[in-house]
Amino acid sequence: MRLIHAATDLVLGTACVGCDRPGPAVCEACAAGLVPRPRTVRDGPPPVAAAGDYAGVLREAVVGYKEHGVLVLRDPLARCLAAAVVHVCRDDRPLALVPVPSRRSAVRERGHDALADLARRTARRLREVGVDARAAPVLRQRSGVRDQAGLARAERLHNLDHALVARRAPPPGRAVVVVDDVVTSGASAAAAVAALAARDVRAAAVAVVAATRSGHPAR
Ligand SMILES: [Zn+2]
Repeated sequence: MRLIHAATDLVLGTACVGCDRPGPAVCEACAAGLVPRPRTVRDGPPPVAAAGDYAGVLREAVVGYKEHGVLVLRDPLARCLAAAVVHVCRDDRPLALVPVPSRRSAVRERGHDALADLARRTARRLREVGVDARAAPVLRQRSGVRDQAGLARAERLHNLDHALVARRAPPPGRAVVVVDDVVTSGASAAAAVAALAARDVRAAAVAVVAATRSGHPAR
């Protein structure tokens, strides 16, 4: 029975991720917390924008989608990420959204590549509103990289130093926007920008779903 309940939770979301009330994955009251409020987090280069703070319902939605596979949260999160992209990218060229990759072992454990899926959905969302965008999951994690959660900033920077590599260049003629779920210290985004730079590709901007306010580790 427990297994069936767990599977039902994954597919339908039997309780709201924000307030835990039985019902849809996000109840009407908590849906307000998923309305994008994009802001610039860092001026750059490249500039970094987030659709909201990593707190409250938005935080629960990111964790629910990424860690627990609540896939119905992908659409509202894609709407947030699309708003952050539009906010930060002042470029007339079509866009290539390059997701920061998860560890391959994390992808295996979770059964889906959350960020790549989110990037694809975000690109589709942007096309729906007339912005030519496509996902370009060209980065991969080098092996032997530990999960970032729980590491202090210095450790993160060391851990991620040259930890990402671009398997190929993003499609030419497009402004490259690095996308991620959460920005904390900025180390992951910086590693992605560096990996692209090693391919002579300059990232125009970084867009994330949520940013922590203090720069402290997210969890
Ligand atoms: Zn709720």
